[in-house]
Amino acid sequence: MPDAEEIERLRVEFQAALAAAATDQALRVVRDRFLGRKGGVIASLMKAVASASPADRPLLGMLANQFKNEIEGALDARRASLESGRPVAGGLDVTLPGRQVPLGHLHPLTHVRHQVEAIFSRMGYEILEGPEIEDDYHNFEALNMPPEHPARDMQDTFFLGQPVPQRGLGTPGTRVSTRPAPPDRPATLLRTHTSAMQIRYMEAHEPPVRIVAIGKVFRRDNPDLTHTPMFHQFEGLLVDERVTFADLKGTLTAFVREIFAPDIKVMFRPSFFPYTEPSAEMFIGCVFCGGTGCPVCKRTGWLEILGSGMVHPSVLEAVGYDAERYTGFAFGTGIERVAMLKYGVDDIRLFYENDLRFLEQFSF
Ligand SMILES: [Zn+2]
Repeated sequence: MPDAEEIERLRVEFQAALAAAATDQALRVVRDRFLGRKGGVIASLMKAVASASPADRPLLGMLANQFKNEIEGALDARRASLESGRPVAGGLDVTLPGRQVPLGHLHPLTHVRHQVEAIFSRMGYEILEGPEIEDDYHNFEALNMPPEHPARDMQDTFFLGQPVPQRGLGTPGTRVSTRPAPPDRPATLLRTHTSAMQIRYMEAHEPPVRIVAIGKVFRRDNPDLTHTPMFHQFEGLLVDERVTFADLKGTLTAFVREIFAPDIKVMFRPSFFPYTEPSAEMFIGCVFCGGTGCPVCKRTGWLEILGSGMVHPSVLEAVGYDAERYTGFAFGTGIERVAMLKYGVDDIRLFYENDLRFLEQFSF
């Protein structure tokens, strides 16, 4: 009479036979021996179960059926593995590569932003964000751009109108306008540069000042290869006694060497900004052609990387600093511009389209 122990013994026998079967033909022999209709191990087992006592029959029947299914499954798996040439353990193909869980990574702009923050933090700068909605005073006037100043045209501005009470509704809405509010009312706007934050900081702190303001800024530009109505900027400010243009050059050279390459060439060229005097644009040797001239650098071998200059005395006076005693320098550029030059991206809009084919080329 078969019992559970007997079935277990047959199972061991089957596994040994299966392990030894290395060809299709050997496998057929094992199948015939265990599943053959006449004289097969399972057929004999089933017959024996049928004649077992009614008390034992249900359990033995279940065990015998389980064993039969097991044999069929194992034989099928083994045959499949012989066909594909891969080893199988207990119906599991141990050589299949694991299922990959896709991992995300930082957006290139976030990565560059973190790098900028890390470099200037190490140089002792405090990193600030500040409000994206500014008033006219902090965005323009305190930065040496009074209402009729032509330099305001360099930065086409989104003005936020005065709060308009909605008829029948308790909550006031905000009208977005491209015209400044009438002069008798204070205008609010979307900040056109992070320099506004420098004024706020200086109003609340005495020198020495060492800050980098970083974040989103907004300008009324039509999107093209190099413009978007929103982009990211960082601007630095250092104010102390005896700060000179040499400090500015040293700081910015150290920055570009760290973010691009230790041996990168730099050049400063006179420029104009209302809030710095003298002002300078900083160029780096073209990262695309190595300075020999290419379409990106317009055959000059140089790429403009940032604007800078010594803080205009009017700006220091506007926040109540003694412009005779203190001097300082300021600098700023777009995070997008740095990222485009660093990674050879030729269209700024790619950063905002969330196209995985673009984003997957980066891994941070
Ligand atoms: Zn070039």
